[in-house]
Amino acid sequence: MRHSLIASGLVAVARAHSAYDFIIVGGGTAGVVVSTRLSQTLPDCSVLVIEAGPDERDLAAISIPGLEGVLGTKYDWNFTTTPQPGANNLTITMNQGKLLGGSSALNLLSYDRATNTAVNGSAGLVGMGVGEAGPIHFLVNHFSPAQQEAFFPTMQNLGWEQTYSFLDGDMLGWMRHTSNILDVNYTRSYSPAFLSIAPSNLEIMVNTTVAN
Ligand SMILES: Cc1cc2nc3c(=O)[nH]c(=O)nc-3n(C[C@H](O)[C@H](O)[C@H](O)COP(=O)(O)OP(=O)(O)OC[C@H]3O[C@@H](n4cnc5c(N)ncnc54)[C@H](O)[C@@H]3O)c2cc1C
Repeated sequence: MRHSLIASGLVAVARAHSAYDFIIVGGGTAGVVVSTRLSQTLPDCSVLVIEAGPDERDLAAISIPGLEGVLGTKYDWNFTTTPQPGANNLTITMNQGKLLGGSSALNLLSYDRATNTAVNGSAGLVGMGVGEAGPIHFLVNHFSPAQQEAFFPTMQNLGWEQTYSFLDGDMLGWMRHTSNILDVNYTRSYSPAFLSIAPSNLEIMVNTTVAN
């Protein structure tokens, strides 16, 4: 299968090496982030990510929220379940991204903050501090669907106040929803953004499916 290497960090990659210290299969949400952190932490090691799908970072259907998106297209694995006895034997489509960024390239952009306890736990695992700025951004949505607008006064009537302390890890209260959108140009903020901070010891191979 035809494959290509794309530039990582600021350094263009001319050709694949024959051996790497680490090879990560899948350049999706986790694959891009973990490989970036790995290559930063171990600058003397070579890291390769192999991704089955293409690099479509310039595709408007992905980067502009609210366009048609790429669910059900060639950028989607389009898995189908077996007939589900508990659902009248329906078969159900299970979407998963098949491109650089994986499912973060076709997901619905919802940014849900966890509690401080949960964030501290996982941030500690990857050696990051809570609140440390990364390349993924979010904003409070400009628009709410009508059904959400009806929800807000109901919460208020029940004695719950609107609060943005949610963003600091205190989950009590209500707020307008947050989405992974870059506020400067209102585009999707998703895992390939990590490549902008990746050093040159990280290489990405796209259009290449790992068989075993
Ligand atoms: C339709 C949809 C909507 C969602 N909406 C939201 C939302 O609004 N908010 C939210 O937080 N989460 C949402 N999610 C969930 C979230 O996007 C996923 O949980 C997350 O992206 C999964 O990350 P991952 O790294 O595990 O997998 P993925 O991001 O899917 O990455 C897996 C990667 O591995 C590649 N790959 C697989 N097999 C091979 C192989 N053999 N060789 C090479 N490459 C391979 C794939 O092509 C893919 O790029 C949504 C998910 C879907 C499908």
